[in-house]
Amino acid sequence: MRRILIFSTTTGYQLRSFGEAALDLGVELTFATDRCHSLDDPWRDAAVAVRFHDEDASVAAVLAATADRPVDGVIAVGDRPVVLAARVAEELGLPWHPPDAARASAHKRLARERMVQAGLPAPRYLSTTVDADPAELSRRARYPAVVKPVSLSGSRGVIRVDTPEALVAAFGRVSTLLSRPEIRALRTGSEQEILIEDFIPGREYAVEGLMSRGAFSCLAVFDKPDPLDGPFFEETIYVTPPRADAGVRRAIVAAVAAAAAALGLAHGPIHAECRVSPADTVGQPPQVHVLEVAARPIGGLCSRVLRFTSESSSVSLEHVLLGHALGERVTAARDDLAAAVMMIPIPRRGILRSVAGEDRAREVPHVEEVRITAKQDQLLEPLPEAGSYLGFVFARAPLPVEAEAAVREAHRRLVFTVDGAIDVRAG
Ligand code: ADP
Repeated sequence: MRRILIFSTTTGYQLRSFGEAALDLGVELTFATDRCHSLDDPWRDAAVAVRFHDEDASVAAVLAATADRPVDGVIAVGDRPVVLAARVAEELGLPWHPPDAARASAHKRLARERMVQAGLPAPRYLSTTVDADPAELSRRARYPAVVKPVSLSGSRGVIRVDTPEALVAAFGRVSTLLSRPEIRALRTGSEQEILIEDFIPGREYAVEGLMSRGAFSCLAVFDKPDPLDGPFFEETIYVTPPRADAGVRRAIVAAVAAAAAALGLAHGPIHAECRVSPADTVGQPPQVHVLEVAARPIGGLCSRVLRFTSESSSVSLEHVLLGHALGERVTAARDDLAAAVMMIPIPRRGILRSVAGEDRAREVPHVEEVRITAKQDQLLEPLPEAGSYLGFVFARAPLPVEAEAAVREAHRRLVFTVDGAIDVRAG
């Protein structure tokens, strides 16, 4: 039986989806994770314990644990494991993203440097650390600006500022966030670094794609219909196909392919975020700024928004990715229906007491699934300090506008009681 190594920090839905796809494909999965204590050994195959901050020891542990039988492919799930996956792939001679490319993709300053070196459009940035003088930085920045920690993800600590005073305040807020024990414990090696860059206006899109021995192919382009203008950048809705015309879509795909190449990403899934500003001159293509290219697939439950048709059956993204990791040529195409996912935002900081309206939300035409992932009595903390979601709503419909309207209506029907004191209507 062929075997794939999956590197992951999470033990949730996406791993189960990989497990189901592996059963379909007759593939055995071996996990490398730093969460062995919370894995209940779902495939009765002990996971390999790794520590993402201790790469050398982790590479050795994975090689030792897999020495008995060949490994046919690797996959990284989540931002943290991408470098370790790349190092192990290199040791095993498997096609994957090279380690330095994986490292650059997960490090906002290195990523910017590579894009600038390649001559690609990138916001002007100042690179600094928490001990710098924010007043001095506030004089050098251009406004509006974005303050962001170099090594966090999921928009954590990303703050737009419009004035020097706001920059000083945001800098303090990000520094406080970076001093939290749970962030120091990540030991990324760059947890003291902060970037201050120009704010790029425009509509935001996400791209899910695959690199195959250096060649980019696009699996889906997502529209983000809610404006992401700050001060914090919470994602809410993804819709595919996007409402952009064919020229804009081509420009997006070309820009992501160029950015992935500039980072050196070569083989495996990628997930990119970009901003499209209208062209300065009529008849010119729009300006696409690629803000980020991650060397991993779209995260967690969100991947359920994508369904593919392969040899006339409907398969998951994870199924497509396992086939690709095994070196198979990917022929799957996204299925014909439009699809939308809402990542249900956290309304404010507090304790989640109850959720009502789930059944009514599920009754909305085109809604396929309403999944509340936050737990009762859990402390909810919104961006910029922490960012997770209350849950997810999925819809599929003939038209993108219908799928989008369906997730919005389902969201409106949900009522989250936070802190027991005040009812906060979600929509
Ligand atoms: P993360 O890896 O934490 O998601 P990003 O750098 O991708 O960090 O930023 C998260 C979000 O913040 C982006 O998707 C975008 O909406 C917004 N953002 C970040 N940088 C800029 C920028 N320079 N201009 C405009 N928006 C930005």
